[in-house]
Amino acid sequence: MPRIAVPEGISTKVFILDDDALPQIPALLDEMWPGKSAWIVADGNTWRAAGERVYRILEETGRPCCKPCILPAVPKPHPDYTLACQLAEMMPDNAVPLAVGSGVINDLIKTAAGIRKVSYCCIPTAPSVDGYTSKGSALSVGGSKKTVPCPAPAAVVADRNVLLTAPPEMAAAGYGDLAAKIVAGADWLIADALKQDPVRPEIWNIVQKDLRAWLADPADLKAIFMGLAATGYAMQQHNDSRPASGAEHLFSHVLEMEHLKYNGEEVSHGFKVSVGSVISLRLMQFFLATTLEEARRLAEPPLTVDARKKEIAELLKRRCYGEDPARLSMEKFQAGDAAFVRRKEIYAVWNSLQEKVARQLGDQEAFVKSLKDAGCPTTPEEIGLDREQSIHGIFTAQLIRRRYNILDLLYDAGLLKTAVEKMF
Ligand SMILES: [Zn+2]
Repeated sequence: MPRIAVPEGISTKVFILDDDALPQIPALLDEMWPGKSAWIVADGNTWRAAGERVYRILEETGRPCCKPCILPAVPKPHPDYTLACQLAEMMPDNAVPLAVGSGVINDLIKTAAGIRKVSYCCIPTAPSVDGYTSKGSALSVGGSKKTVPCPAPAAVVADRNVLLTAPPEMAAAGYGDLAAKIVAGADWLIADALKQDPVRPEIWNIVQKDLRAWLADPADLKAIFMGLAATGYAMQQHNDSRPASGAEHLFSHVLEMEHLKYNGEEVSHGFKVSVGSVISLRLMQFFLATTLEEARRLAEPPLTVDARKKEIAELLKRRCYGEDPARLSMEKFQAGDAAFVRRKEIYAVWNSLQEKVARQLGDQEAFVKSLKDAGCPTTPEEIGLDREQSIHGIFTAQLIRRRYNILDLLYDAGLLKTAVEKMF
């Protein structure tokens, strides 16, 4: 059975990625969950895509199977904590859950399995996100999006023939989420250079070493899934999403919390991240094109504490941005002498950091073209954002997490407004 090595010390023990991987499930169950019955959870679509076949394979090979749980396909199951709790209650005793579906089904079962303190097997039906193999799930809790702590799947069985049946926009979304690791990597280099978050080479390599190869062909779903899965392992090992996410993800989180819809449909995570990645790229290009002398000359004077508080209150006035972003963003804020000390630190690494970021980004216009070729949106308009919403999204993205990135670099250097004005 062609198993792909997973890093040591994480919850995921087995990763199978093969053209026709589903027939390998019975032997895997015998090995990892002897004596347990399989409990398949799918929705109407993913039951047709793979669930039904998995059920048949288990029956034919005489493996014990509980009655499958098939959620309705329409409306699509929501990534909601209440639903995850219901699934935890429904989960038969002494069973191993098999989550057959895309990111939402996986997050629901990941959470339900975590509540019941059992391990589970993930059978993805679309290469759409990097969250399959990460720990924690992205669910809406009481109306706001949260990362609910729970262990990653113990086994992942990805069947290429199944992934090929996924709707093209889901595969494109996965490509966007994976391509984002290029700019997210540059953000980590920025944080590292300013001693905010040191790069751990062993974690960095899990994502970055083969990233370009995984992204080379948007039609190679095996390679793309391989990259998405590796990213999840890196997040498991690092205990944090830093290896996979930078400013582009913060931009997408802002839109998620604002419940962005386009043509009546929620915009996929990968598409919001794709647009966020091009925004990150443009801001990084501003940084690369600005000499140290220009940076000093163009720098706006730092705000006073009161002026910054006012600015933040205005940006957050929709009050939908999670727990206490106002406090968090003030903790990041440097006023008075501290602001000038930070600028000195930034100027000291300006030139060397430019080199590192440029090397990480590689061919910058090829990056945008690869997103377009994969079917990802690259401009805010393509996901229904006007100029004002986009600018608001960029400034707000800087407030919602501690994670240091290009937005913080430009803000601390007194250049963020100028860079954003230039972009639009
Ligand atoms: Zn993502």
